Amino acid sequence: TSTSQQEFEYLFKLLLIGDSGVGKSTLLLSFTSKNFEDLSPTIGVDFKVKHVTIGGKRLKLAIWDTAGQERFRTLTSSYYRGAQGIIMVYDVTRRETFTNLSEIWAKEIDLYSTNQDCIKMLVGNKVDKESERVVTKKEGIDFAREYGCLFLECSAKTRVNVEQCFEELVLKILETPSLLAEGSSGVKKNIFKQKPPEDVTTSGCCSW
Ligand code: GDP
Repeated sequence: TSTSQQEFEYLFKLLLIGDSGVGKSTLLLSFTSKNFEDLSPTIGVDFKVKHVTIGGKRLKLAIWDTAGQERFRTLTSSYYRGAQGIIMVYDVTRRETFTNLSEIWAKEIDLYSTNQDCIKMLVGNKVDKESERVVTKKEGIDFAREYGCLFLECSAKTRVNVEQCFEELVLKILETPSLLAEGSSGVKKNIFKQKPPEDVTTSGCCSW
């Protein structure tokens, strides 16, 4: 579904959130590594851009990673601002990463999300480590139902379900008129001009 064409109908901002070590960076790299432009290796909040065609639409996805800032619980409103989709990641082998989604991350999303209809996708990562699993699939399904999110289990390592996570999220965004109005870009948006958030320092920046 990748396309090298730079024209696009919509620009979507997608976020990865969740505890440190759950595999957010690996997930992003796994999804973008075949075709990505590394736009911002030095700013504190890191994002990658991928051009895709999903649901018959040419899209530019700007996918933001926390760049380690989540360790200090210092993600701020500028990280969340304007996002059409949020991927909430936990590690199926570490229960606290799952409970923290409801106790910390879901509250932060409610506090900072600027798009009321923002689509959320719950992702249980590291299913390749099945023998170490402690969070069942049913628990994921129940959480997703309660919070009104989409849900998938995946492995960023083996790439099982990685594309699906992003595709299902984007398809749902495309079905949501209010998000299309927000992210619509009849005029090509230039995200190079987007200022790095002032309240985020470069110290937590990760590299790959
Ligand atoms: P982040 O802090 O959430 O960005 O997590 P990272 O992407 O840095 O991943 C943390 C660790 O988990 C790294 O050692 C990754 O190689 C490993 N990891 C990430 N995804 C998977 C996965 O799907 N399966 C396995 N077995 N390890 C993974």
